[in-house]
Amino acid sequence: MGKGFYEVPVAVNEPVMGYAPGSAEREEVLATYKKMYHSRIDVPMFINGKEVETGDTGNMAPPHDHQHSLGVYHKADQSLVQEAIDTALEARKKWSKMPWEQRAGIFLRAAELIAGPYRAKINAATMLAQSKTVHQAEIDAACELIDFLRFNVQFMTEIYAEQPESTSGAWNRLEYRPLEGFIYAITPFNFTAISGNLPASAALMGNVVVWKPSDSQVYSAKVIMDVFREAGVPAGVINMVMGDPVMITETVLASPDFSGLHFTGSTNVFKDLWKKIGTQIHTYKTYPRIVGETGGKDFIVAHPTSNPKQVATAITRGAFEFQGQKCSAASRCYIPASMWNEVEGYLKADLASISMGSPEDLNNFVTAVIHEGSFDKLASFIDQAKSDSDAQIIAGGNYDKSKGYFIEPTVIKTDNPKYTTMCTELFGPVVTIYVYPDNQWSETLQLVDETGEYALTGAVFSEDRYALEEAVQALENAAGNFYINDKPTGAVVGQQPFGGARGSGTNDKAGSKLNLYRWISPRMVKETFVTPTDYRYPFLG
Ligand code: NAD
Repeated sequence: MGKGFYEVPVAVNEPVMGYAPGSAEREEVLATYKKMYHSRIDVPMFINGKEVETGDTGNMAPPHDHQHSLGVYHKADQSLVQEAIDTALEARKKWSKMPWEQRAGIFLRAAELIAGPYRAKINAATMLAQSKTVHQAEIDAACELIDFLRFNVQFMTEIYAEQPESTSGAWNRLEYRPLEGFIYAITPFNFTAISGNLPASAALMGNVVVWKPSDSQVYSAKVIMDVFREAGVPAGVINMVMGDPVMITETVLASPDFSGLHFTGSTNVFKDLWKKIGTQIHTYKTYPRIVGETGGKDFIVAHPTSNPKQVATAITRGAFEFQGQKCSAASRCYIPASMWNEVEGYLKADLASISMGSPEDLNNFVTAVIHEGSFDKLASFIDQAKSDSDAQIIAGGNYDKSKGYFIEPTVIKTDNPKYTTMCTELFGPVVTIYVYPDNQWSETLQLVDETGEYALTGAVFSEDRYALEEAVQALENAAGNFYINDKPTGAVVGQQPFGGARGSGTNDKAGSKLNLYRWISPRMVKETFVTPTDYRYPFLG
């Protein structure tokens, strides 16, 4: 350990840049976007600090321009996955003994690299790879990732400071060891910040990691690896492998040294992973930690006393920003009959003013969905709603994949509160509205609670405190992140720790101390100063 009780810089949230016309940051990010768009790159894997190319490649294309290639990424075979595991375990010998202030220094440096020299690059990469508008890229790839890195360093020191009582005769020390083995991080396409945080949070606590990013996010994942390397993450501590998720996962989970899964993605994939780990439990040297943040079917429920304009704005932003591809996106809404006409009017006016297209054109609020599989799935739900008698499309409903995977922001109204799009996670710019009778507030809250398998985010709008309090209680288990008079998206690290329960995950709250506790295995050390030499107690005479 070090030679002092060091204090780390107090974590503060990274200010969000505005990208207004004429601003320097707007010019820089657009110039970077253009340059990256016109260059083709090879994304290697990173194993033991080395760039590994296999020649077995996958194409990378912007979702809004799928015929344009940004280059290729290289895929692993089983032996390379095994090499990543072996290399991580070798790196563990030194990394797990590294004083915490050195680990802190590395990840604080990574935060500053993203805040400064890498900001335009990581944002432009996220605009290209995941079709985020510049604002969505800024709040994710730059700000949220910087926040994760800075706050986690502070949280780590707060955890280390939590120590048991000691007496004059004995000194009790809790040592927050990393887990014995290695961590497997699997990350989703939709947040560059999550992609960086899942390996980094475990590594910060002294663990070594095999990281598998999503095929659809490899392009921006490469920038993260470049930042980690420049920040000084030693060889082998975070190894990035790409390729067949089933093969990679089977190889990883077959290792006796597998000691934790840090997953974010869809519910069924996570349940399957849990099952595989359970089936192979006798293989492992230690009980693996299993952390998974998964799907959502997030709600907005409005009381008759709420403000219709506020409700409509929350639906527009909550359902359609980043094409509804946030796990927290509003996708089922419950609106009282007396308010519906007004909310509908505002919502349609909002949608009429929204333009859709490439994120390079900063007038666009909506861009493309991530890939053809997602496009086809969304189109089929929209088509079904067009033909179902208990659903009606009241806005949007068009789609076109000729150039990019564009789905028009779509509002479905249904008379059936259990209609398929009220229950199923679609992960796209489609929101479903159920209009309820004003006098059925309590029944509607029960409906909200009992619909679907998820419990990630939800929002209640009301100007009546009694109605609000009733909702807070009735929906206690319906959301891990619950919003009052606000949209259900936009959680900020350090302010709203994020995660849901039920089918939405293990609720280990990314961006808080609670998550970091999962990557440590404390050792209690008791040191006795004057050690007894006689077994007899006084009562024996
Ligand atoms: P996904 O489940 O398709 O993929 C996530 C990761 O799992 C990817 O790296 C993918 O390659 C991998 N994967 C896929 N099949 C696998 C398998 N059989 N074995 C092992 N790994 C496999 O999810 P996605 O489309 O990338 O992301 C969207 C999903 O993530 C949505 O369900 C969303 O709600 C969820 N999500 C949740 C949170 C949260 O905090 N709760 C945050 C972001 C995204």
